[in-house]
Amino acid sequence: MQAWVIGNWKQNPATSHDVNALLDDLLTAVDTQEQANATGCQLMVAPSCIHLASVSARLKDSPVLCAAQDISAHSANTGAYTGDCSAQQVADAGATWTILGHSERRQYHQESHDCLLQKMTHALTQGLGVIFCIGETQAQYDAEETLDVIDAQLAVVKDLLAQQSELTANLSERLIIAYEPVWAIGTGKVPTVQEVSATHQHIKQTVAGFADSLDSMTVLYGGSVNADNADSFAADPMIDGALVGGASLKAESFLAIADAFRRATS
Ligand code: PEP
Repeated sequence: MQAWVIGNWKQNPATSHDVNALLDDLLTAVDTQEQANATGCQLMVAPSCIHLASVSARLKDSPVLCAAQDISAHSANTGAYTGDCSAQQVADAGATWTILGHSERRQYHQESHDCLLQKMTHALTQGLGVIFCIGETQAQYDAEETLDVIDAQLAVVKDLLAQQSELTANLSERLIIAYEPVWAIGTGKVPTVQEVSATHQHIKQTVAGFADSLDSMTVLYGGSVNADNADSFAADPMIDGALVGGASLKAESFLAIADAFRRATS
């Protein structure tokens, strides 16, 4: 199975100059399609909305895909929704994927099941793939509620399949699940590889139970992945790649993580 390493740049870098410097470093290291294929690891970055068009233009002839970090729940295309960017707009800017349901969106923007179902529908309608983030908080982890929380969050996928069958024909190629324990994001704390592996197995089994076509779901781990711990996650066959925040802001650490997954899959 191909590995995926996806960089979530969040609200970084601060300036276009710094965005271009990061891209310079990234593209120097990964400068041809052939080289990227040789890595056996699909790379993707998700810049902030303001940088999406310029980043996707620079990545156009490279093997690195470009994703949005979010899309509007209200409309797939246009409307009176101040501050929102629609699925059609981010696709027009060059994104081919979008992250949805990141814990920071759930926390700071109160994103609910219904909101995420809308967003997922809009993304797929506009031909965007979806990296759907799920994961428990520290309190939920401490209370051993991880799998219950995940099941509730995965109900978005179940409801999508029930309501939007025409959109979900090739869903296994257009949906990636990113398991990100909230307490591991940006904290330096990580669950054990055994814990992540067991949770990924549960996610894969649950999603396969929704539809036969989802029997080989790609499931990434996210939360304080770095160049030092990537090998241990990459070695587990249940972990198909990584969603990377902080370490994706330096080409060197981002590509070291990709290299760990390439070596594990080769
Ligand atoms: C994230 O925000 O998706 C993430 C995984 O962040 P970090 O790698 O910094 O923990």
